[in-house]
Amino acid sequence: MNAADRGQTVEVDVGECRCPGAPHTSDKINLRARPNTTMRFALLQAINEASEDTNILTGEMVSLYLRLGPVSWNISNGNGSPVPIDDLADSLGLDREIIVANKASDLYTEAILGPLAPSVSSSPEPTQEEPLTSPSSMTEPSSERSSRKRRARSG
Ligand SMILES: [Zn+2]
Repeated sequence: MNAADRGQTVEVDVGECRCPGAPHTSDKINLRARPNTTMRFALLQAINEASEDTNILTGEMVSLYLRLGPVSWNISNGNGSPVPIDDLADSLGLDREIIVANKASDLYTEAILGPLAPSVSSSPEPTQEEPLTSPSSMTEPSSERSSRKRRARSG
């Protein structure tokens, strides 16, 4: 057994049980309290690869937090035993994934990247669209402007 996996955990209550037969008062996931080495590298790699697209990065972060963060959970598939980690995200469903991912982000993102880290909870900024100039019936003659700036340099 790996000692690192028995470290402190943080319980995340994702609410009403949705397991078959609803055997729990609420569904819970225990996240490791601190990021481990695998998680650090995975996050840094995700940031490297998605440096220009924050939406991709958010998705990557959510995915890796849900894969690497949970230590134990009660969410079952009706067999009485918890679902495997590969099925955990599916069993959670998108809305509960976000709850877990937000908590995981609180625990890990800043710990790995520092206080200026991006957050998975931040909504994407609205893109500013420049108003398109509608083609007018009359074509305006474009006035030529020569706005040259010359910098005289005397070396
Ligand atoms: Zn349950």
